[in-house]
Amino acid sequence: MSDPNAGTLSEAKPPMTPGTYLRKRREASGLCVLDVAVRIAAPGQTARLVRSLNEIERDELHVTDAILHALRHAFAFDPQIYAQLLDLHVSDAAAAAMLPHPQLCRVCACSWHDPCQTDDGPCHWQERDLCSACVGADPGEPEAAPASGERQAA
Ligand SMILES: [Zn+2]
Ligand SMILES: [Zn+2]
Repeated sequence: MSDPNAGTLSEAKPPMTPGTYLRKRREASGLCVLDVAVRIAAPGQTARLVRSLNEIERDELHVTDAILHALRHAFAFDPQIYAQLLDLHVSDAAAAAMLPHPQLCRVCACSWHDPCQTDDGPCHWQERDLCSACVGADPGEPEAAPASGERQAA
């Protein structure tokens, strides 16, 4: 399904939800929910934590400080960004308009204090909401990849 509204109100794009933010940061680190739970769960609590993490990523549950703290040992994200997105998520439109909107990569959700590490060092902004590490990886903008120079793998 293509986006028929492209071009209209592009400035008023709703902010990423806090759950989506955590999911994108987790995915960017290459971990599945179970990987994360195994890393931070207390003994015997893994299944329960998997359930909680899934609810958190669907924005059905919000992270407690204890889980937020533990999550930082599993993958990189900025807890301040999570807090800002949570504020935006629970505010009505008028209140949200007065809150800070964090600058995030729309693909991997990296941010100023939480950049991707690339071969050339930390990523930088390529567009207002796209980081240099994700250029070409954006599923929203299909582009014809040049096939020149491609090498056959055996
Ligand atoms: Zn990115
Ligand atoms: Zn990045």
